[in-house]
Amino acid sequence: MKKVQSTCNYCALDCNLDFYVENDEIVKVVPTKGYPVNDGFSCIKGLSLDKQQSVVKGSNLPRIRQEDGSMKEVSWEEGFNHVASKLKEISEKYGPESVAGISTGQLVMEEFAVLGHVMRNYLKANVDGNTRLCMASAVVAHKQSFGFDAPPFTMQDAELSDTVVLIGANPVVAQPIFWGRIRNNKNKKLIVIDPRKSETAKNADYYYGLNWKSDLALFYTVANILIEKDYVNHEYVEKYTSGYEEFKEFVKKYDLAYGVKATGLTEEQIMEFVELIHSGERVSFWWTMGVNQGYEAVRTIQAIINVAAMTGNIGRPGTGANSITGQCNAMGSRAYSNTAGLFGGGDFDNQARREAVAKAIGWEADELVTKPTIPYNAIVEGINAGEIKALWVLCTNPRHSWINNETFAEATKKLELFVVQDIYDDIESTEDCTVFFPVVPGIKKEGTYINMERRMSPMRPVLERKENELSDYEVIVGVGKALGMGDKLKGFETAKDCFYTMQRCAKGMPCDFSGLTWEALENSKGVQWPFREGDVLESDQRRLFEDGKFYTADQKLHFVFEDVRENPLPTTEEFPVVFNTGRGTVGQWHTQSRTREIEAVCGVSAKEAYILVNTEAAKEAGINENDKIRVYSINGHNAEFIARLTDDVRYNELYAPIHYIECNKLTASLYDPYSKEPSYKATPVRFEKVGGNK
Ligand code: SF4
Repeated sequence: MKKVQSTCNYCALDCNLDFYVENDEIVKVVPTKGYPVNDGFSCIKGLSLDKQQSVVKGSNLPRIRQEDGSMKEVSWEEGFNHVASKLKEISEKYGPESVAGISTGQLVMEEFAVLGHVMRNYLKANVDGNTRLCMASAVVAHKQSFGFDAPPFTMQDAELSDTVVLIGANPVVAQPIFWGRIRNNKNKKLIVIDPRKSETAKNADYYYGLNWKSDLALFYTVANILIEKDYVNHEYVEKYTSGYEEFKEFVKKYDLAYGVKATGLTEEQIMEFVELIHSGERVSFWWTMGVNQGYEAVRTIQAIINVAAMTGNIGRPGTGANSITGQCNAMGSRAYSNTAGLFGGGDFDNQARREAVAKAIGWEADELVTKPTIPYNAIVEGINAGEIKALWVLCTNPRHSWINNETFAEATKKLELFVVQDIYDDIESTEDCTVFFPVVPGIKKEGTYINMERRMSPMRPVLERKENELSDYEVIVGVGKALGMGDKLKGFETAKDCFYTMQRCAKGMPCDFSGLTWEALENSKGVQWPFREGDVLESDQRRLFEDGKFYTADQKLHFVFEDVRENPLPTTEEFPVVFNTGRGTVGQWHTQSRTREIEAVCGVSAKEAYILVNTEAAKEAGINENDKIRVYSINGHNAEFIARLTDDVRYNELYAPIHYIECNKLTASLYDPYSKEPSYKATPVRFEKVGGNK
């Protein structure tokens, strides 16, 4: 029996798993003992990866839509030629920006890179990823505050912290292995800040149930009081930060009275939070989608970073302003997709970086794409406006997950070429596709993942491929060849070639991994970047900024701040209720596509869309447990849900799990102005019992 250690490709923990294989069948899956992330534990999703073996129904060949609407199976060669000729034709007829792609945080690093090479460098098209939906706000905040998109922590910091602050994060359900690390820390105080009394909030020592989208107001108020009380680490601020004096002046107006009014918390709660931050020796701040997915998310994240910095809680064990990532390779997509930044990081208008990257891939600098991609929302809007005519969607399901998802459904009907590439041929996004490319699941492919603490780990094939089974990497290269790229694909021929090409691109950058080899990653404990040539791995827990040096030009952390904005989409008389969204259960995959084969998950998951309704509000509306209710959104759409009554949501709040397509039918098109990440969490709605009065 052979054993293959590989990486779980569901969430951003990137747990490692040992797959035991006999006669090309997985006999058992065992979480890797001693792996720094999960050390012998995993959740049900990782343990069930063996179920994802051959998930495309029928053959493994591409399909092309015919005039009568049917899909015809064709050879891979024909599929590649068809897509390449349509891409060329559309690009020549309407311009290169009439072509776009939407990828994911699920691919391996090398697949992002080759896609960015073919679509962006060669075709000059726009390509964004569904990482825009979850991490874009953290990326922008990191770049402005730290000088690079560099999550500073190692996961062990959750165990070393004496004060753990979770903001808009529910790891009990969303990152269970990470939650285990927090729970193992017996010496901590756990503070949870969330409007909803989430599963994590119920486990908190201190729970602050603030008003929706008032976290920026809270952190400015807290900063002001910390300054007033002189609870500031002046030595750290002076040595390692810039902009503090301006920030100090700026937050003066955010006094306690303001904080109470804005957040709905009491004076005592805010003062208690301030004292907890001050009394902690090692305070760590962790946030995720409750913060990232907001209309002023970037500034909120930076307010958290500012509070961590002014109290000296960065760069020491158990501290940090730490972004919890969503998808398994969001970090790989951020650094190596050639979308918002060049391969290995750096802006498209930075000539020195352009030249370094061009040299690394054997091109001239002026051949590289000259600007960042337009963001996801602009791609969908561009299709609806008739400006974008071709779309290639890889391993994501935007018909379900995109905010205000009917806008995506409208868009796809207008496309001349709509390619969907996925391991499933029946996800909602395939409805109107003109070409379907079936690809193998992760257990049959190879490449590199980067988790939320910057740890690189390998995915290695556990099972042999069957006839005509291709990986995402091979399909992208196949299209590149059919486009006539020829020598322009040099250095990208295989995933392993691409690994070394990316290594050259990242040399000298914060995410430098020139000290690694493809082979050294195998059966390892993973390696957190940076890991430069000549570096010695002294620990498998490495955090950034221990020396107080940041990646900005002056090597200091920058205080970035801006006034709290009016909510662009407040509740109204007609829509008086806040529609909040998030993960429903530990087991379910976002759009459920990847967990439907897991009986243990399906068996306990609701089949129909359900929604949490406050008990008292339900009583007043004559709604009983499991009644159907209709929710009307300010975005003009409505949908039906099964009502589940609970006191965990507020009187004027509904909470809908993201796993059902109805959820994002109701979210409204609102974005952070800097990151363009959608604001999923607080859409004004009203509701009624089905059969009631509108
Ligand atoms: S916690 Fe995340 S990475 Fe770990 S097994 Fe579960 S889904 Fe996979």
